[in-house]
Amino acid sequence: MKRLKVNGFTFMITMHLQCAVTEKTVPISPLVDQFSRTISYLRLSLTDRCNLRCIYCMPEEDQDRNSEVKTGRFLQHSELLTYEELVRVVRLTVSQGMNKLRLTGGEPLVRKGILEFIHQLSELDGLSEIRLTTNGVLLAEYAETLYARGVRHINVSLDTLSRSKFVKITGKDYFTKVWDGLLAAKSLGFRIKLNVVAMKGVNDDEFQDFARLALDHPFQVRFIEFMPVGDKSSWQMEKFISAEEIKLLVTELGSLAPFARNHGEGPARMYNFQGKDGRNGAVGFISPISHHFCDKCNRLRLTSEGKLRACLLSDRETDLKFLLRNGATDRELIESIRQTILNKPQGHTLQQDVMARERQTCSGRMSRIGG
Ligand code: SAM
Ligand code: SF4
Repeated sequence: MKRLKVNGFTFMITMHLQCAVTEKTVPISPLVDQFSRTISYLRLSLTDRCNLRCIYCMPEEDQDRNSEVKTGRFLQHSELLTYEELVRVVRLTVSQGMNKLRLTGGEPLVRKGILEFIHQLSELDGLSEIRLTTNGVLLAEYAETLYARGVRHINVSLDTLSRSKFVKITGKDYFTKVWDGLLAAKSLGFRIKLNVVAMKGVNDDEFQDFARLALDHPFQVRFIEFMPVGDKSSWQMEKFISAEEIKLLVTELGSLAPFARNHGEGPARMYNFQGKDGRNGAVGFISPISHHFCDKCNRLRLTSEGKLRACLLSDRETDLKFLLRNGATDRELIESIRQTILNKPQGHTLQQDVMARERQTCSGRMSRIGG
């Protein structure tokens, strides 16, 4: 492998490029960045549209709360990658060693044709898992077919157990739909993670209720620190609460013992939570601000407008859609994917930005990037 430095960017010329003369996509070297992190996990944002308007995710101007999916400043359908283009990208990344895929958004379940798309993905050789992150609104309706198509792991975002607070956070009166979706998914045997964005003064009075939920149901409950993402984020220091503070609240109800193996849990630090009545559950903390996990990051993201993004919190992107729509060959696409990975930033500056009371660490919007 040779290193080449151009305009401050490091390019590594690997053997697979030097001997690239055919359109075969046989992996010759794993997808590794310049900090030796192997990238094996692709997150696809299928759409920036959503049937909710969460205060922490969308800028206020997109939060036309009386509308359903369509209004606001969302991408036109032609700006999204087609399913055919998405399948091509997934096939190519899988051919290079990517083995885990997450479908996200916006709300992935509002994109028409998603079930057929999942079916096509499930037929790709080498893809070991297709996971889904959803707000759960359409889960009751889709759960059975998702399961039949091979999806086994879903993350459901739910920040409150109160119906009225759900309306305040999301703009919609859909708490019951989400809850029904969770129960339907549970009865089918999905492995379910509940993502709770922690916001002081908004849902901190419910953290212990969420911890109890992990004892009552087989849901892994994961608290996520509220991040200032996007150009018009509603993030405020006053609303931030750290994972350590949440942990203290949870330990009032029982003990937390770190998982012996945290493998496969991504950025979450997972704990076995034993309640005072002896029951067990799983509780985790995702703490991008107070305790970043960049050194172990194995992720690559494809935004809903077809840009490859090597770091959630860095706006450095590769316009894959342009390449896809201008005749790029498989080999050229692979080369571009590899270069994006190679230039994955070493880490983000979220903690410093927050200390400087910056309300934004990158301009990309969560609903386009996919979280
Ligand atoms: N609509 C789906 C959902 O809500 O699960 C998928 C997309 S959403 C952008 C993906 C994840 O990002 C969700 O778990 C959501 O809670 C999280 N998220 C969005 N904005 C966030 C923020 N500012 N800070 C922390 N997490 C955030
Ligand atoms: Fe929609 Fe998910 Fe963003 Fe909420 S967090 S607005 S459900 S994309």
